[in-house]
Amino acid sequence: MIRFNMPYLFGEELENVKKAVLDGRLAGNGDFTKACHEFFQNRYGFEKVLLTTSCTDALEMSALLLNIKEGDEVIIPSYTFVSTANAFALRGAKIVFADSNHDHPNISMESIRQCISPKTKAIVAVHYGGAACDMDELQSICKEHSIYLVEDAAQAIESFYKDKPLGSFGDCATFSFHETKNVVSGEGGLLVVNNDKLTARAEIIWEKGTNRTAFFRGEIDKYGWVDLGSSFLPSELIAAYLYGQLLNIDTIQNGRISRWNRYFERLQTLSSRGLIELPDIPAYANNNAHVFYLVCKSADERNRLIDHLKLKGIGAVFHYLSLHKSSFFESKHDGRELPHADRFSDCLVRIPLHLHLSDSEIDHICAEIIDFYRMS
Ligand SMILES: *Cc1c(COP(=O)(O)O)cnc(C)c1O
Repeated sequence: MIRFNMPYLFGEELENVKKAVLDGRLAGNGDFTKACHEFFQNRYGFEKVLLTTSCTDALEMSALLLNIKEGDEVIIPSYTFVSTANAFALRGAKIVFADSNHDHPNISMESIRQCISPKTKAIVAVHYGGAACDMDELQSICKEHSIYLVEDAAQAIESFYKDKPLGSFGDCATFSFHETKNVVSGEGGLLVVNNDKLTARAEIIWEKGTNRTAFFRGEIDKYGWVDLGSSFLPSELIAAYLYGQLLNIDTIQNGRISRWNRYFERLQTLSSRGLIELPDIPAYANNNAHVFYLVCKSADERNRLIDHLKLKGIGAVFHYLSLHKSSFFESKHDGRELPHADRFSDCLVRIPLHLHLSDSEIDHICAEIIDFYRMS
């Protein structure tokens, strides 16, 4: 069986975990957490970063940080993972779902403009597959209407918009190190805060509503409860594992990109005949090779392709049932059709992409896909 996903272990992860254990420092915000923070600040120029237990938690921190409350509206793409919306729904926000672009799963600027109202408090943009949304356009919409921008950059490590790292555009941004992402720690995430007015509070929300982080820096002589918060910081065990992965980030990225390119070349024959669509990365974005996907002509064809690959021992999956049609949200949706989100929901399929995958396995997977189209 060729697995859809399989984390790759370099060795430094376990060495670091062992070190944390032997040092007897297992709670959060220790040396490995600091090493990860420095890595992100140095590599991407982020001012304020906080490791979290997941991207979901970083999104929930964002909602707290922006003071999202009942009556506020938040614009979110329908074609995304449930946490993007759930984090804001938890604070009582009214979620207004926007459509995808017709040729890319990213949120459509035209659809956003139709969703804006005087109650709009924030837009959450998801960089699907690590490919940047149109950030110039997004920032100008947010400025024009005085609304916050949050980047759900869960999939967008090592991604750029016109050479500037994703995660540095929004008032805040969130990353994921879930086992299915490029850089992993099992569960894990990161909050980036780019708006100076929000940084002090972010640290407090992170540490259960206390000013303990400032206390540890020696800025105050005792710490206490000063605001709302929760336990969003991960154990040093997670940070230690993550730091081991970060040391190998170039190997991870080179390995993913070369595999991605091999798929792209071998499947050209199907896309040039109009049988499938391959990922179309906008000119202002780079490709961080988070996912390799193809888009079929119908849900039926997509499902038959997945079954065919499964029969041949290849793990392929689809994802994101449009959230405006989810059982939790359907009755709350305002009834607008979101046809592009629905099309990606029906027709997109993801194929294996990880560092254990050999060239011959990629060639085999491509041959099976081509075979499927020869037969059908
Ligand atoms: C993976 C993912 C998340 C959730 O990340 P966790 O770290 O598992 O909480 C959120 N949004 C998007 C777009 C994702 O791909």
